[in-house]
Amino acid sequence: MKFKDEINRRRTFGIVSHPDAGKTTLTEKLLLFGGAIQEAGAVKSNKIKKGATSDFMEIERQRGISVATSVLGFEYKNNKINILDTPGHKDFAEDTFRTLTAVDSVIVVIDVAKGVEEQTEKLVKVCRMRNIPMIVFINKLDREGKDAFELLDEIEQKLDLKVTPLSFPIGMGYDFKGIYNIWESNINLFTGDPRKDIEDTIEITDLSTPDLNKLIGDEAAENLREEVELATGVYPDFDIEAYKNGSLQPVFFGSALNNFGVRELLDCFVNIAPSPRSKDSDSREVKPEEDQFTGFVFKIHANMDPRHRDRLAFVKVVSGKFERNKPYLHVRQGKNLKFSSPNAFFAEKKQVVNEMYPGDIVGLHDTGNFKIGDTLTEGEKLMYKGIPNFSPEHFRYINNADPMKSKQLNKGISQLMDEGVAQLFTLEMNNRKIIGTVGALQYEVIQYRLEHEYGAKCTYENVNIHKACWIEAEGENNDEFKEFKRIKSKYLARDKRNQLVFLADSAFSLQMAQDKYKTLKFNFTSEF
Ligand code: GDP
Repeated sequence: MKFKDEINRRRTFGIVSHPDAGKTTLTEKLLLFGGAIQEAGAVKSNKIKKGATSDFMEIERQRGISVATSVLGFEYKNNKINILDTPGHKDFAEDTFRTLTAVDSVIVVIDVAKGVEEQTEKLVKVCRMRNIPMIVFINKLDREGKDAFELLDEIEQKLDLKVTPLSFPIGMGYDFKGIYNIWESNINLFTGDPRKDIEDTIEITDLSTPDLNKLIGDEAAENLREEVELATGVYPDFDIEAYKNGSLQPVFFGSALNNFGVRELLDCFVNIAPSPRSKDSDSREVKPEEDQFTGFVFKIHANMDPRHRDRLAFVKVVSGKFERNKPYLHVRQGKNLKFSSPNAFFAEKKQVVNEMYPGDIVGLHDTGNFKIGDTLTEGEKLMYKGIPNFSPEHFRYINNADPMKSKQLNKGISQLMDEGVAQLFTLEMNNRKIIGTVGALQYEVIQYRLEHEYGAKCTYENVNIHKACWIEAEGENNDEFKEFKRIKSKYLARDKRNQLVFLADSAFSLQMAQDKYKTLKFNFTSEF
């Protein structure tokens, strides 16, 4: 197959949802369609279970699973599909944000009864900012839920999207009869049988046919006609360009658990979802079809086996062909690296491969060279941008609890920060280390992993910080900047890349500083 065809047949995407909406179930059904797994139950949920005996044991369990589910690749109708896993738990939101820099499109799963939930809102907002094409799947139609129009409204309002339904439910819950596929003009009737065959769809090109009444009864037929007429009247026609540039979102209805409406979603997805897109770097836009390989690290996973301390760096191929044993430039370090056993991901297995194409995710064994955001090229000194650091929500001093092990502690902290588990800030005043995290769970993860992977012990101490912001000033000699640094010296720190960070102790003092130092920029995210 030609290089260009390899690119065109790739679909790399993520499924985002609030926990429990049905992301794992949908993933599994997609893999079943692709023949990548044989039975339901094969894909493990990477959710943090509530009420588990201990949080960190639960996190270890989750980490074990999330290695296996980080990337799930499969073939469907001559498409190579890569699903990138995005944790739904809010404490792992940063992981998800970073993964979203490596997807070319997204499917948003929404629970028909719960509607738009908190995590959905946050994640969709990030996708919207990046103009990532999104398809919405409304799940659990076999249960009683909100009215279809009400939900479409809610999605438009709360998620600030412009939707158009490409399928429409016939009834719901107890009365759920099936799905009318607006995209393909056919009907799929519900039997509640998860093994339901793909062949079971009935072609109805014209909704006014009396056959419809025979199929689903007079009342349901009349309702469906009215609703579809209303839906197609109110919502814009589907437009693939609008979808691809993120200004229109098609919606599908179904029940993942019953494998219902999933084929419709998948068939439309492979048709319309974009193949790998161009990506901005600090010097130019890079196109997937370029000859030379480039890629970037969006995720690092520490090995769970304490005897093998190497890590797996996940690299998205942006352009060219990645080849095994070929030297590539690690741009940040300015050195060449060769990889003798790069991994590709198929369903739940990983496998050594010789070549990979744009859109693919390569797993590279790493002994500590990589940080999230690193770029690999064939020699060109470009760096991919756009992996964000967000201001953490929690802050604590980290102290060494075993003075004999300070080397191990520092190494551990440094590596965990490279993995993106949390952010480290070093106070300018006294060099004390502060760990900032998105969720409180991360503190337990760090403590546990420092001890088990690095043999170091740490304790935490409360510190009163409200927010971290990255300070930008015009020139070091700017008087206002000098004054700010003098007056706020107690609150200034450096992040891992030595950028200046202001750790404001309250919303009030932050506001005061923003009002007073008008020429300074207070950034709540930093991109690297
Ligand atoms: P995730 O947290 O988004 O990955 O959600 P899961 O896929 O683990 O699903 C959460 C729960 O909802 C599980 O108990 C599923 O069996 C259930 N579920 C998923 N899809 C459906 C569906 O279509 N109908 C019903 N009734 N339950 C579903």
